[in-house]
Amino acid sequence: MRQLIGHKNMTRKEFIKICSLLGISIPLQPLLAKSYQTDYNHITSNKFEGKVLIIGAGAAGLTAAYRLFQKGIDFQILEASSSYGGRMKTAVDFVDFPIPLGAEWLHVERSIFSKIVNKPNINLDFTTKSYTSEDYSLYLGEEVSMEDIGFDIDQKFIGFSWLDFFKKYLIPSIEDTLLYNQVVKSINYTTDKIIVKTSKDIFTADKVILTTPVKMLKNNAIEFTPQLPEDKRKAINKTTVWDGFKAFIEFSEKFYPTAIGFKTSPRKPGQKMYYDASYGQNSKRHVLALFTVGSGTLPYKQLSDSELIKYILNELDEIFDGKASSNYIKHISQNWNKEPFINGAYVYDHESWRTVRELGKSVHNKIFFAGTAYTDGSDWGSVHSAANSAIRAVNELLV
Ligand SMILES: Cc1cc2nc3c(=O)[nH]c(=O)nc-3n(C[C@H](O)[C@H](O)[C@H](O)COP(=O)(O)OP(=O)(O)OC[C@H]3O[C@@H](n4cnc5c(N)ncnc54)[C@H](O)[C@@H]3O)c2cc1C
Repeated sequence: MRQLIGHKNMTRKEFIKICSLLGISIPLQPLLAKSYQTDYNHITSNKFEGKVLIIGAGAAGLTAAYRLFQKGIDFQILEASSSYGGRMKTAVDFVDFPIPLGAEWLHVERSIFSKIVNKPNINLDFTTKSYTSEDYSLYLGEEVSMEDIGFDIDQKFIGFSWLDFFKKYLIPSIEDTLLYNQVVKSINYTTDKIIVKTSKDIFTADKVILTTPVKMLKNNAIEFTPQLPEDKRKAINKTTVWDGFKAFIEFSEKFYPTAIGFKTSPRKPGQKMYYDASYGQNSKRHVLALFTVGSGTLPYKQLSDSELIKYILNELDEIFDGKASSNYIKHISQNWNKEPFINGAYVYDHESWRTVRELGKSVHNKIFFAGTAYTDGSDWGSVHSAANSAIRAVNELLV
């Protein structure tokens, strides 16, 4: 088993293929992510002097905003919901450490933090913790190492979260530029001045950085005049966005290993995994989490809250001889399909890199796309890929 699912020296494609054949849950794309290089202060000259509108205040929108702030560019962020963070949403009052309802692990080296804030020597006063050889996972009833299930470079935030990072290091400089409850409905880029209409107001700008989840474009939530180029529209329509669902269950005792991987059908790609959400935290609380995307969400996403916890406890009782029901305290869950301005998890792992690269291309040097779905095609579906795409979009915009 260990040999079969180990992934040292494999390409990302081979790794994902093996994982999908075996139905192993891989949190995201750790292998490819390793290929990123840092490029501080990439922007050397800055000829652009107009106004930029950033649509969406998730990891990409905030990263783009911070870069523009550093460059002294006039910009504003229009966010549809009443808070920033998007898929980094975090519950702060469930237990005594932050619960990441979306993005949870750091999939790349910590140097990404310096890259996001564009400061090589930033002093980071929070810790992240890797898994060790002591930790183990159950896969189809057998013990396997964390490395076997693709957790070898992933790190957990300790008493902190991806959202906290943005809140602490970026938000103080850009919060005055954030406008909430501004649901962008249309973008007219016919003339030099781009006109952006929201549910409440009309804005004009010279350039737009659009970071809404690609699912919103698939749903035609924003009307473009003229319509987006054909290749872009085709890529949007072709892209598969995975459903996403997470649940966190507090127990009075820890009766489970660090992770429990499950097989999902190779014909219906997806991932499902239970894991110790309290891992490494300075806390006595025991929280087990469920992470599912794609077909992995099927059993859970339609259930009512009471049906959901019954289903989860039954499933865990079968593996752990009834210990789940007897130790259950409380739970919370997050159905990403039901988030009104997000509508899903992220572009699925098996998407063609060419399609993703097309999604990332700018339009007429006026609309720039940034976000986890709009990358250069080398990586997607993570906070670091969203941030990297924002840096790329800003560099392109300022040339
Ligand atoms: C279940 C789950 C687990 C994950 N786990 C990890 C992980 O462990 N590690 C990791 O690195 N990544 C993880 N990710 C992925 C990561 O969360 C995302 O890739 C990243 O946060 C996306 O950032 P973004 O800025 O591209 O998009 P978003 O965060 O979705 O931001 C887009 C913003 O646009 C706003 N918006 C939408 N429509 C409009 C409109 N019409 N007008 C104005 N605003 C609009 C939205 O409200 C939102 O705030 C996970 C995601 C999910 C769903």
